[in-house]
Amino acid sequence: MKDGAASPRPVIFTDLDGTLLDAESYAFDESRETLERVKSAGIPVVFCSSKTRAEQEYYRAALGVTDPFIVENGSAIFIPRDYFGFDFPFHHTRDQYAVIELGVSAKDIRSVLREIREQQRLPLAGFGDLDLPELCRITGLAPEAARRALQREYSETIVPSLSAEEFRRLENRLAEKGLRGVAGSRLYTITGQNGDKGRAVQRLGELFRREFGDIITVGVGDSQNDFPMLNAVERPYLVQKPGRRWAPADLPRVRKIAGVGPAGWKIAMAEILAGYTLPNP
Ligand SMILES: [Mg+2]
Repeated sequence: MKDGAASPRPVIFTDLDGTLLDAESYAFDESRETLERVKSAGIPVVFCSSKTRAEQEYYRAALGVTDPFIVENGSAIFIPRDYFGFDFPFHHTRDQYAVIELGVSAKDIRSVLREIREQQRLPLAGFGDLDLPELCRITGLAPEAARRALQREYSETIVPSLSAEEFRRLENRLAEKGLRGVAGSRLYTITGQNGDKGRAVQRLGELFRREFGDIITVGVGDSQNDFPMLNAVERPYLVQKPGRRWAPADLPRVRKIAGVGPAGWKIAMAEILAGYTLPNP
């Protein structure tokens, strides 16, 4: 692969909700055609989202994406066995994947949340406490999709109904326990402190570099939980949220795209495709 490559191969790290997928409907109609062009160019597309493995597997199958993926805000990297042509260290294998873990198990996070809820008397309803109809109502997900969202392995998502002061108390307690919360498009997700999208992107980027030699890492996101990912890549893009506004970002290198969600994603990908020459076979 290294020989004959006319330009460094881009590797795309992309958020899902509100970026590749529509923020309200989770639809991918608008990004689909561009995604096909990216795939045909031999450019890996790595989902990097707060979504669970079960949720991401659904979109991988629906969109025909077979590259590694990063789940639950950077808590773990799932790499299809035999994807890379060399051996690398990983924590364990699950189904057809080698798994690199950076985060904390969902079980441990839930027990910390229970403790905080009791000691601090904070109303902390997590996904794990909600029944399916409630979860559907809050997330706007259909029942099948909500079921996939409940299959958390490394994080717990709570439904923010706290005052600013309560949030501060929650964040202090989480930090004491080696955990942290990140606000996504709609919800607040708690993970281990070491599981962030940026670290996961760096880790996986090293493997891609070993595989392809010269690469350019590209990141596309819409929210605060994408900032570590955008900081970790060479070409960061921020798309707009509904209402045509950008998440307030202090990221000097980031390129702000005037397009909401998938519309912005298409513009970013067109730029990447325009600057990339296919390697000779
Ligand atoms: Mg998002």
